[in-house]
Amino acid sequence: KKELLLTLKGKENVTLDGKTIHIYANIGNSSDIGAVLKNDAGGIGLFRSEFLYLEKSDYPTEEEQFSIYKYVAESLAGKKVIIRTLDIGADKQAAYFNLPKEENPALGYRAIRICLTRKDIFKTQLRALYRASAFGNISIMFPMITSLGEVIEIKEVVAEVKEELKKEGIPYNENLELGIMLETPAAVLISDILAKEVDFFSVGTNDLTQYTTAIDRQNPKLDKFYDPHHLSILRMLKFAADNAHKYGKWIGICGELAGDLTLTEAFLNMGIDELSVSPALILPLRKKVRESRIKAADTDWNLPV
Ligand code: PEP
Ligand code: MG
Repeated sequence: KKELLLTLKGKENVTLDGKTIHIYANIGNSSDIGAVLKNDAGGIGLFRSEFLYLEKSDYPTEEEQFSIYKYVAESLAGKKVIIRTLDIGADKQAAYFNLPKEENPALGYRAIRICLTRKDIFKTQLRALYRASAFGNISIMFPMITSLGEVIEIKEVVAEVKEELKKEGIPYNENLELGIMLETPAAVLISDILAKEVDFFSVGTNDLTQYTTAIDRQNPKLDKFYDPHHLSILRMLKFAADNAHKYGKWIGICGELAGDLTLTEAFLNMGIDELSVSPALILPLRKKVRESRIKAADTDWNLPV
């Protein structure tokens, strides 16, 4: 079985009827790069940048961040590297942030909400990312978006950072793609409006399932209720895919559901452009795609409600 998969290295992710999909890797640490390359990923679809903050006892500096982002970008040698800005809070805590104890941390002060409150932290990360963009194919995406106002505010901070770097004569990629994660029902339901403001969407099905079905993804007692196959999730994926494409933007999935081979055909039929999965799933997913055929207008997913 392993050898069979190895024969898929270097092959395209193309269906029997000729549709190509991008298959990228999720990573949570720069030490995962070896696995990304070994499994022939087309790029990195989700680089969870939290580890940079969680493994330290104080805020990582711009230089520290820059050298890691640069290393990842250079290692991928021109392939796309989508780095997600800080998604801390809720389940992921770092003492030096001094985050208050909360009744509902999953609904609380986290991710982009921290970044838009603590612009010093946000700008340090954005400066490091933009500086690293001169050394490879970096895109940036923002987690936990719920409103258009947040996206506008993010773009204002990005514009400030670019202006600063320009003044300082520091090179960066002027056309760097900016995307958002769709992981709240609010963002999905205004995805037509958000699509005009960003270059791409990446659906975080782990949180989207949690927030859509109101079931805590962290509570083991609820495991039997937590169901990313819920029809509501597939309907939202289709809705968001249509809105992305209406405005000429691409859409991927980077939550765990992306690697669920029982849904690969449904994703292809919806027009999902990219799937980002853990490195070990890249080749099995490529195999599945190469055995698939697109059916137009397939909305009969026959899944439990
Ligand atoms: C998600 O929510 O699906 C996601 C990819 O982000 P994380 O699992 O890091 O919250
Ligand atoms: Mg998430």
